[in-house]
Amino acid sequence: MKLTSRRCLTMLLAACSCAAAFAQAPAATTTPPPAPNTTGPRSAGVDNLLIAAVAWKQTAAEYRALYHQGYNVARMHLELALAKRKAGDKPLAVVSDVDDTILLPLAYWGHLVNRNLDFFDDPIWDEWIPRNQMVLAPGAREFFDFCAANNVEVYYITARDQGEKTFDYAMEHLRLAKLPNVDKAHVTVLRDTSNKQNRQDEIAKTHDIVVFLGDSLNDFRRKYYTKDVDERLKLMESDRAEYGRRYIVFPNPTDGHWMRAIFGDSEPPPTDANRETFKKAATRRSWDGK
Ligand SMILES: [Mg+2]
Repeated sequence: MKLTSRRCLTMLLAACSCAAAFAQAPAATTTPPPAPNTTGPRSAGVDNLLIAAVAWKQTAAEYRALYHQGYNVARMHLELALAKRKAGDKPLAVVSDVDDTILLPLAYWGHLVNRNLDFFDDPIWDEWIPRNQMVLAPGAREFFDFCAANNVEVYYITARDQGEKTFDYAMEHLRLAKLPNVDKAHVTVLRDTSNKQNRQDEIAKTHDIVVFLGDSLNDFRRKYYTKDVDERLKLMESDRAEYGRRYIVFPNPTDGHWMRAIFGDSEPPPTDANRETFKKAATRRSWDGK
């Protein structure tokens, strides 16, 4: 339908009077700012901050290959240590973290994405742990079987807290995965700290620790437990010779102390302020488009 000029003029005048009415309207008609978002993404969840990291964990062959790479490198060092062993030497040992090093909580992260949550959720983690849905990391079976076949003792040190049953849950996970040395002497579950160093140092008194396995630098030495991104990078660089030798790192883009360095908290609350902080971290280096 075409509009005549007269009709256009009438409509224009009507629009002007309408605009004038709006201009005089009380402030109460303006849209209030959105309430702070302390749950998850506002939409259907396709803008969830976790999606890229979780999709990578769930599907990337590269993610799995990095586990094989880590375990293959660890085995290579064990083979060298076994070949060099002499009578009277301390027994050989491996010190390993558990979550995201040996056991992968993929279903937990998928659940968070389905629930439209975009930050680590401690109550859901505690609810999920007893469900025994962890999966064994690629390469772990072969590596730990090799340790058992060659009398290399495996010590597990994990920081978890699901109340009174924390230790039992951790033991159950390791037993279900049919891992070696799953007993009280070899499994340490830290409930009130993530500081693993005291236990590591105790083990080192009686054993020659060939490799440490972990997805967080804290699994190697406590000194990396800093809230400063640059300091953490610097500390890691100062030990560069240890990586791929004594320290074997596995990938974890969803959680860990790298997040603590960004937010000051390993498990930051899901607030808009933290989403802004995450964006700031992601744009630390950014092309200005020119
Ligand atoms: Mg871990």
